[in-house]
Amino acid sequence: MSGYIGRFAPSPTGPLHAGSLCCALASYLDARAHQGTWVIRIEDIDPPREPPGTAKHQLEVLKKFGLKSDREVLFQSQRHHAYELAFENLRKNELVYGCSCSRQTIAIEQERLGLPKNVYPGTCRKGTKEPVRAWRFRTSCDPISFTDRRFGIQSQNVEKSVGDFVLKRADGFWAYQLAVVVDDAFQGITHVVKGADLLDNTARQIALQRALGYPTPSYFHVDLVLNNQGQKLSKQTQAPALDTNHVDKELLHAWKNLGFVAFEANSLDDFYKEATKRWAERYLS
Ligand code: GLU
Repeated sequence: MSGYIGRFAPSPTGPLHAGSLCCALASYLDARAHQGTWVIRIEDIDPPREPPGTAKHQLEVLKKFGLKSDREVLFQSQRHHAYELAFENLRKNELVYGCSCSRQTIAIEQERLGLPKNVYPGTCRKGTKEPVRAWRFRTSCDPISFTDRRFGIQSQNVEKSVGDFVLKRADGFWAYQLAVVVDDAFQGITHVVKGADLLDNTARQIALQRALGYPTPSYFHVDLVLNNQGQKLSKQTQAPALDTNHVDKELLHAWKNLGFVAFEANSLDDFYKEATKRWAERYLS
């Protein structure tokens, strides 16, 4: 075993689909190609969006594809205390502030300042007298750069492109950015392989890692799987659930979506052996 630790981190908001399988497969093959450890983490931090039983079902489906966590599965719903500690740490360093803005006040300010819809205008940065709804991270204008193993050099001025982002939401739940950063560090993740839809979140995560004194893992963003209408597969675009009666077909489809040519395999073991070899030839040399 090498020092490599990778992970697949599904949110249990719906059944796994072809796009999820691509990310799971890519992260698994990358870990195997590095002779590393591969773990599954269930990102269940948004209960209103999680139909009961989804996480259990996702784990069963992954198992049918031969994808089993090398370590005990971590559930983010069990990690509130760790998020609270990280949050307090940031707060102590004055990197967190309370925000009383509603969606509407943010929209009005964006319009007034000519800012795009995804940029927080900094309204509460200097303090607010209104009741606090959410808690935001105070960003800085230093550009954050990293080299993605798939998409190359990336650079983002988080303050300009996103603004101060939410760490604790108005409904009291933790934001994905904080939970993911705390758990990647806690689990000693050295290599993150995740969907390209999350590419523009990574600079925010690196900003948080730096503020919390955590190491930054290496990143590989997997090309998105699109449906016939050119939309990203997701629950919103009604992506069909993976068909566990046709594991071979689904795996082959994911393999081709990752940009590889099909090959014959007589068993799941054979498939993973050959796929790992081909993945290593392409991405490790
Ligand atoms: N939980 C996220 C999702 O299912 C993935 C997070 C990550 O890989 O960093 O989209």
